[in-house]
Amino acid sequence: MFTADNYIVANSVEEAYELNKARNSTVVGGMLWLKMSNKKFKNIIDLSKLELDKIEETEEEIQIGAMVSLRELETNEILKANFGEAFKESVRHIVGVQFRNCATIGGSVYGRFGFSDILTLLMSLDCYVKVYPTGIIPIEEYAKQKQENEILEKIIIKKHNYNISYLTQRLTKTDFPILACSVAKIDDKYRVSIGARPMRAVLVENELSSNPTEEEIVKLQNHIEETVKFGSNMRASGEYRKLLAKILTKRAIENIGG
Ligand SMILES: Cc1cc2nc3c(=O)[nH]c(=O)nc-3n(C[C@H](O)[C@H](O)[C@H](O)COP(=O)(O)OP(=O)(O)OC[C@H]3O[C@@H](n4cnc5c(N)ncnc54)[C@H](O)[C@@H]3O)c2cc1C
Repeated sequence: MFTADNYIVANSVEEAYELNKARNSTVVGGMLWLKMSNKKFKNIIDLSKLELDKIEETEEEIQIGAMVSLRELETNEILKANFGEAFKESVRHIVGVQFRNCATIGGSVYGRFGFSDILTLLMSLDCYVKVYPTGIIPIEEYAKQKQENEILEKIIIKKHNYNISYLTQRLTKTDFPILACSVAKIDDKYRVSIGARPMRAVLVENELSSNPTEEEIVKLQNHIEETVKFGSNMRASGEYRKLLAKILTKRAIENIGG
């Protein structure tokens, strides 16, 4: 378990950023990942007074505050109405309900974990992050960046006509995924994201037509084989993950009804 000298509740995002710049300081979300470390922090900075625990809908977009819990992603009606079961599907295997009540989307996205379900799903959507002080950037750009002392404020998803299939393979129900695949048909274009490789999720370029033929799907599978890197760890080999990625991508496209 980590320890900290000071627990500071930030009054603004600017203040949180300034505090976070100091050596041995860190922002906290649900602290579920942080608690696994033995680090000694000077300051931990709590964002819970910044009203970042809301999911809001406008005509053009859905905004998800960084302090929204994974459980809220699972049960929220706005997300269900816009993205069907995709959010629920992406978090339902993560440990258990009590855990998901505490873990935040901010901690999950900032972490850019190589096993992340959330990042894999978000990458397949028309999605942006609002980061202080940088501003708004596409999630695929953020996913590639190093972790700095920025403050993640919101996840912004542009509204479209979405049809999403989110699939994972796990050794047991609540373990980390050994591969995650999210395919979103956005209006009539596809976005394909592969995560838990076990490296950060990546977007796979594709030339799928609105109703992909078998040939187009095979071409995409070959493209995955040639361009996406897969690694080995105690859960699975890179070769197995590559096979899974090709199979889950095909299955997800078929689920969408392409
Ligand atoms: C046992 C276990 C199993 C898990 N299994 C899965 C799984 O199967 N799939 C999956 O996708 N995830 C899994 N996770 C990860 C989990 O879902 C959360 O992503 C993780 O707990 C981080 O969320 P948190 O709110 O607890 O963040 P914290 O632990 O509080 O923070 C994590 C990191 O993010 C930083 N941070 C938090 N919020 C912000 C912010 N707003 N701005 C800037 N930096 C911020 C912190 O400084 C820290 O570096 C697992 C975690 C654990 C501990």
